[in-house]
Amino acid sequence: MPSFVIDEKCDGCKGGDKTACMYICPNDLMVLDPNAMKAYNQEPNQCWECFSCVKICPTQAIEVRGYSDFVPLGSSVMPMLGTEDVMWTCKFRNGLIKRFKFPIRTTPEGAANAYPDLKGKDLDSEVLSTEEADGYTLKTPQTV
Ligand code: SF4
Ligand code: SF4
Repeated sequence: MPSFVIDEKCDGCKGGDKTACMYICPNDLMVLDPNAMKAYNQEPNQCWECFSCVKICPTQAIEVRGYSDFVPLGSSVMPMLGTEDVMWTCKFRNGLIKRFKFPIRTTPEGAANAYPDLKGKDLDSEVLSTEEADGYTLKTPQTV
C-alpha cells in the first residue's frame, strides 16, 4: 500500500522551499498543497513503499500500510530515524510490540561520492561509465 500523510501531524515542513518528503522521494511523488500546507502522495500507484518519506518526516506524519502478507490487518511497522540508527517498531495484531534498532550511515548528508570515476565523464555519451570509448571493453568497477 502506498504512503499516505496524516493531515493532523503534517506541518508542511514549516513552509520550506522543499519539504523533507519531497526531497527524499526517489520517485518525486510527494507534493505540498501550499494552501493547506499539507503534503500528499500525488500518484499513489507509483509508490514502491520504500519508506524513505516515512523515515525522514520530522513529525512522523507519513505512514505506509504494508500488504497483508507483510503487515496483517491491525498491525503496523513504523521506523523512527535517529542520528546514528533507525528504530523499527513492529506492532502485532495481538498487541505485542517489538523494536529493532539498526545502525545507519555515518557519512554526513551530501558527502557520499559513490561514483568518483564519473568525474569528467561525458554523461550524455551512450557508452556506459564502465566501458571504454570503443563501447566494448569493460573495466572492473572500482570499490570505494
Ligand atoms: S516531511 Fe512530513 S511534515 Fe514535512 S511536508 Fe512531508 S509529511 Fe509534512
Ligand atoms: S514510500 Fe518511497 S516511493 Fe513511496 S512516496 Fe514515500 S519516498 Fe516516495
